[in-house]
Amino acid sequence: MPSQLNLILIGPPGAGKGTQAERLTEDFRLPFISTGEMLRANVKEGTELGKQAKQHMESGGLVPDELIVAMAAERLDQSDTEDGFILDGFPRTTGQAEALEEQLEREGRRVTAALLIDVPDTAIVKRIAGRRVCVKAGHNYHVDFDPPKHADVCDQDGSRLIQRDDDRPEVVQKRLAVYHEQTAPLVQFYEDRGLLRRVDGTRTPAEVHNHIRALIATLKLEDSI
Ligand code: AMP
Repeated sequence: MPSQLNLILIGPPGAGKGTQAERLTEDFRLPFISTGEMLRANVKEGTELGKQAKQHMESGGLVPDELIVAMAAERLDQSDTEDGFILDGFPRTTGQAEALEEQLEREGRRVTAALLIDVPDTAIVKRIAGRRVCVKAGHNYHVDFDPPKHADVCDQDGSRLIQRDDDRPEVVQKRLAVYHEQTAPLVQFYEDRGLLRRVDGTRTPAEVHNHIRALIATLKLEDSI
């Protein structure tokens, strides 16, 4: 089996994970798996999972591990992940990271790298205020840093652009606190395994993208040696 490229994107909300994941998906033709997107789709469809997740999401808290781990495990077992995957927003707790590691190990797979997109809190609040997503597929834009060609319209599918409910300033503060408490420990988790790669997320989306591509080229080279 050719080696897989199994990437995890870690970073605070608004660091640009979704934007980078979209670009990497096009570069490498790998499925982009966003647990946030999957949950929003479940809420929209009114599924049992969506009903259970909704209140946690609206408050800026995390959806319980057991719900998320089962949802992600099922997605990762689909056949389109056989050359690899790009995970955005999962794992988000040490428990989720352990569950992912166990699942991949059982299946003879492993994480290739965890990319930490680092952005200080002060920059995050400003960024999130300008963030917009399309109603159809969740494509990401920013009114200042990554604007669509036509205001409020998605370049990719022509649907309307909106602000996410949980991008309201009061919810953003809560999400940042949750990130520092529950997700930041993953940095050490992946550092301990030699898998962490840091990226300066304060640069432009194009610069961050170039840096990540260079990191991936190095990983592939190391893998082939
Ligand atoms: P995101 O689009 O990744 O920012 O996710 C939006 C919201 O969905 C988060 O604020 C959480 O409430 C929930 N969520 C997404 N992924 C996870 C996860 N891996 N663990 C727990 N909750 C999650």
